[in-house]
Amino acid sequence: MPEGPEIRRARDELAAAIEGRVARRVLFHLPALASWNGRLDGRRVMAVECRGKAMLTHFDNGLSIYSHNQLYGRWLVVPAGKPPETGRQLRLAIHGDDRWALLYSASDIEIWPREKLPEHPFLKKLGPDVLDKATTPQVILERLRSPCFWGRQLGAFLTDQSFVAGLGNYLRCEILHCSGLHPAARPRDLDDQRLQQLAAILLRLPRQSYETGGITNDLDRARRLMDAGASFEDARFHVFRRAGLPCYRCGTAIIQIKQGGQGCYLCPRCQ
Ligand SMILES: [Zn+2]
Repeated sequence: MPEGPEIRRARDELAAAIEGRVARRVLFHLPALASWNGRLDGRRVMAVECRGKAMLTHFDNGLSIYSHNQLYGRWLVVPAGKPPETGRQLRLAIHGDDRWALLYSASDIEIWPREKLPEHPFLKKLGPDVLDKATTPQVILERLRSPCFWGRQLGAFLTDQSFVAGLGNYLRCEILHCSGLHPAARPRDLDDQRLQQLAAILLRLPRQSYETGGITNDLDRARRLMDAGASFEDARFHVFRRAGLPCYRCGTAIIQIKQGGQGCYLCPRCQ
C-alpha cells in the first residue's frame, strides 16, 4: 500500500501533467457520479495536492475532486489518446491537450466545493503531514505528548493518520528501528532526549524516502549494496521485509511480530 512519500510522488507526476492546464474533458465512470460528466469540461486545474493518502484536484470554478486510492486505486499519466491496455476499471479521466490523467480501481471519489473541504470527514481527522515543511520536530513532540498518544504503544499509533498523516507500515518499522525502540514502547516510557530523537527520525525518514524514490536505509549503505548487485527492493530498508536476515547494526536476525494487524519487522537486540 502506498505511503506518504509514494502518494506525494504520484501527486508530483499528476501536477506536472495537468496543473495550470485546461481539462478538455473530465469523465466520471462511477454510476453515482454520472451526472457530473461534462460539468467540469473546459475548466482549468488550479492545483493538485495530496493530504495523507487522499488526492485533491482543484478546478477554477471552486470545485475539487477528492479521491482516495484505498488499497487498489492507481493514477496513471499517459499521452493524450493513448490509454494503456489494462484489466483495471477506469474510474476517472481528466483529459488535457497533451496528456491524460487516469484513475483506475479507486471507488472513493467525490466532488466538493473547495471551501468546504476542511469539513470533509476524512480530511478533518488527519494529523499534520510528515512531508509538509510546516511540520517540525516540535510539532511531532507535541503530538507525542498529547493525552491521545502519550500512553499508547508506538507500534499501534504511528500509522494512525490522526496522529500524523503519511506513515504506513514500512515507515513505521524503519522509524522504530532507527530510533532503537520496540513497537510496544509508549511515549511516556521515554525521556526527553529519546522523544526528541524519535521526533527527528519520524520526519527525516519519510522525507528521505520521498527524495530518493523510496530508500529509508542509510544512503551510503544502500548504494554500496546496489553496487554489489543487490536489487533496489533488497537495498532500500533497514529491517522492513528482512525477517531472518542480519541487522546491519548488530548482526542479530531480524524478526517479524504482529502488531496493529500488520507485520512489524524489528531487531530484537537493537530495539
Ligand atoms: Zn540490531
